[in-house]
Amino acid sequence: MEIKTVGIVGAGQMGSGIAHVFALTGHDVRLSDMSQDALANALALIDRNIERQVSRGKVTAEDKASAMARIRTTTKLAELGPSDLIVEAATERETVKTAIFEDLLPHIQPHTILTSNTSSISITRLASRTDRPEKFMGLHFMNPVPVMQLVELIRGIATDEPTYKALHSVVEKLGKTAASAEDFPAFIVNRILVPMINEAVYTLYEGVGSVKSIDESLKLGANHPMGPLELADFIGLDTCLAIMNVLHDGLADTKYRPCPLLVKYVEAGWLGRKSERGFYDYRGEVPVPTR
Ligand code: NAD
Repeated sequence: MEIKTVGIVGAGQMGSGIAHVFALTGHDVRLSDMSQDALANALALIDRNIERQVSRGKVTAEDKASAMARIRTTTKLAELGPSDLIVEAATERETVKTAIFEDLLPHIQPHTILTSNTSSISITRLASRTDRPEKFMGLHFMNPVPVMQLVELIRGIATDEPTYKALHSVVEKLGKTAASAEDFPAFIVNRILVPMINEAVYTLYEGVGSVKSIDESLKLGANHPMGPLELADFIGLDTCLAIMNVLHDGLADTKYRPCPLLVKYVEAGWLGRKSERGFYDYRGEVPVPTR
């Protein structure tokens, strides 16, 4: 089945990046969010990011113009009805995602494939709440979407082979590489990455190191391109906490308990870059550690 029209739900960091890569590869994109501001910000961000690719000679000005013309925004889920593929990229909360799929079902077509960009929630459980678990999969992009090469493909227990093959070729068409993961909490990348971030927060909480020494240690001592606390701010501390909670609940192992300091930052609304404060304060010229 050829995927021509893609509906994206959620126009935050991930939804805007997903819209960017689909539009640049010739797909018609319908991007929806319940917030008009989020949609306006997403369009401005996509414009800026494609412009950067133009200035580096990676994309022509004509390609940029046609990509931008292929993106339509809406606050109404019903307008995603004609999509061949839906990518849900809303807030990492199961009740939010389930409600979105329930609201979408009366409007989509029999052949429409449903996917979620969830970082950790059970694909099988999300799929079971729809009328088409065989046409439901996890399509997990990495942040920032236009830059990162990997997309995890997660089959639910009922996902059929044609759906898997269709999504595998979509990933190839985007110029990215697919990795298949089984449907267990947080899949592959976040099963390994987010507990490491949580451990870095424990290291800070227990006073073993400061924000600066922890990040420098992993950058210079383990050759990581970003320190774990810098990376946590980039992902969003609410998303990191949500993933730890899914691991803790889903695997019932105390080694996945979220660090109380991570909980405290989220309670304060210090969610990282997106709220201009997390383990670093981004409100000035240069990021300043908050501990
Ligand atoms: P975000 O907070 O930047 O954006 C979420 C968007 O969803 C917001 O614009 C919000 O208005 C919108 N939204 C919430 N409820 C909605 C609803 N009912 N209908 C329509 N829109 C709604 O979050 P994000 O970082 O873009 O994450 C989105 C998803 O992608 C999550 O499932 C997250 O786990 C996953 N993800 C995030 C990352 C990352 O590094 N941030 C990486 C991979 C996957």
